[in-house]
Amino acid sequence: MRLALDEAGRATKGGDVPVGAVVLSADGSVLATGHNEREATGDPTAHAEVLALRRAATALGEWRLSGCTLVVTLEPCTMCAGALQQSRVDRVVYGARDEKAGAAGSLWDLVRDRRLNHRPEVIEGVLADECARLLTDFFRNR
Ligand SMILES: [Zn+2]
Repeated sequence: MRLALDEAGRATKGGDVPVGAVVLSADGSVLATGHNEREATGDPTAHAEVLALRRAATALGEWRLSGCTLVVTLEPCTMCAGALQQSRVDRVVYGARDEKAGAAGSLWDLVRDRRLNHRPEVIEGVLADECARLLTDFFRNR
């Protein structure tokens, strides 16, 4: 999560909301990182999680990220929850809850929907205050 927080800090340079993500392989090594780049790239899907998942798949040479863990500073949205589901990651770890748009326990719980055949383990609240503070500070300065 410390690495994800560092990554989140990089997002603001491009004017993006500070959210950072890291994908860890089954042995715990870092496969890929990502931060929000929607403003920087003009790509509506350039969320930290999507970028980190894409890079992890490239690093592994396949789309299946079985055994991997995605760590992100903010609860994933519906798009990212869908991408996490599709990537077959084993575990999702996040910091702050997103009560307005979260899809991993707050507003929806897409990643653990029992109707889906793949449901990663979800661990929330890791360094939650620090992750939330980064966002609060960013929006206060706008
Ligand atoms: Zn998202």
